[in-house]
Amino acid sequence: MNRIVLNPGKEQASLRFHPWIFSGAIKRIVNEQGVSVAVTDGEVVAVYDNKQQFLAIGQYHNNSIAVRIISFDEVAIDQNFWNKKISDAFTHRTNVGLTNNSSTNVYRLIHAEGDGLPGLIIDFYNGTAVVQSHSIGMHLAKSFIVEALKACYGKALNGVYDKSEDTLAKPIVAKYEVKNGLIWGETLTNEVTEHGHTFNVNWETGQKTGFFIDQRENRELLAQYAKGKSVLNTFCYSGGFSVYALKAGATLVHSVDSSAKAIELVNQNIALNFGANATIAHEAFAQDTFNFLSKATEKYDIIVLDPPAFAKHQDAKHQAVQGYKRLNGEALKYLKPGGLLFTFSCSQAVDKFTFNSTVLSAAIIAGRKVRVLHQLHQPVDHAYSIFHPEGEYLKGLVLQVD
Ligand code: SAH
Repeated sequence: MNRIVLNPGKEQASLRFHPWIFSGAIKRIVNEQGVSVAVTDGEVVAVYDNKQQFLAIGQYHNNSIAVRIISFDEVAIDQNFWNKKISDAFTHRTNVGLTNNSSTNVYRLIHAEGDGLPGLIIDFYNGTAVVQSHSIGMHLAKSFIVEALKACYGKALNGVYDKSEDTLAKPIVAKYEVKNGLIWGETLTNEVTEHGHTFNVNWETGQKTGFFIDQRENRELLAQYAKGKSVLNTFCYSGGFSVYALKAGATLVHSVDSSAKAIELVNQNIALNFGANATIAHEAFAQDTFNFLSKATEKYDIIVLDPPAFAKHQDAKHQAVQGYKRLNGEALKYLKPGGLLFTFSCSQAVDKFTFNSTVLSAAIIAGRKVRVLHQLHQPVDHAYSIFHPEGEYLKGLVLQVD
């Protein structure tokens, strides 16, 4: 295995299990005999410190993040390695009651750095594993990954769908002719159950891997408050929060998303759960949230704000904060006295302290008395490494206004 040798002092991050090596930390790239070599993008390499001590094994890419670490132990990266990674992740989900659960058959199996596999996402949808690679290393490891999934699940796995065309860098997509599609087996169903609610998940045309699994527990919390209440679910995508609210006995739910395709999904999911002709008080609007709020003629008991990541990068943080402030400030105006705001941010670059203080500014501007009832976060199948705090991307608050 070729070796990445780090500059003196640059081993500290690896010694505390940070999952990346930045290009600036690299002193030399050599083979096992110490002769300088060139390594190819996606190649599995060993990382050594300047005194020839082994540090880690990772996947190389000639980029700012040059190595993504997949092992801090000196082991062979063979099929057994991948089998163990996948089965360890599966065991973690089993231990928290997700893999053999009669009311939930959708969960995240691999959450990138959180499962020691940077650049890889795998979501399990009632028999279909949707694999999303964000790095060339993971793209090239895909046949190992598929075999490991088959070994782990046995008959419980019907198919593996690769959804990496939009997440891999364009030159990689072009070079390897990456296409979204089934790479093993078949799809038996697109219907999943989450806390007993049914959703149709379209991983082919849907956003991300098809469904926002990360809001599972927060939707359940909304259900606890929704009985007899009017709910506005903005940035609703396929209507997760709306279905939970209606099932819990909300008297009125308005779902808003700027994407017409998302609104189709909401209506489909409402029909799935309540029947096509059910007389439930639900209406879906293909509209921009700000636009919808500016024309709103009524106030709600509960409003959900779950916008897409306003800041995808650190340099967009300031603008994102302004966006969250404005959005939360607007929403607070449309809550009835005693009403609840479920407000979220999934921007990695906006940490929870920044988010909390942004929402505080919005409350000051709105001039309403606000209490914090809950601090929300991503669920246990989206665990993150403490050495990679950027992995804590989803944060939220439940606020109650006077
Ligand atoms: N709450 C959802 C996930 C939200 S993802 C769930 O539980 O599944 C964010 C959604 O915001 C996307 O569906 C996207 O289409 C929508 N969106 C983006 N910008 C918007 C805007 N300005 N107004 C309304 N919806 C918007």
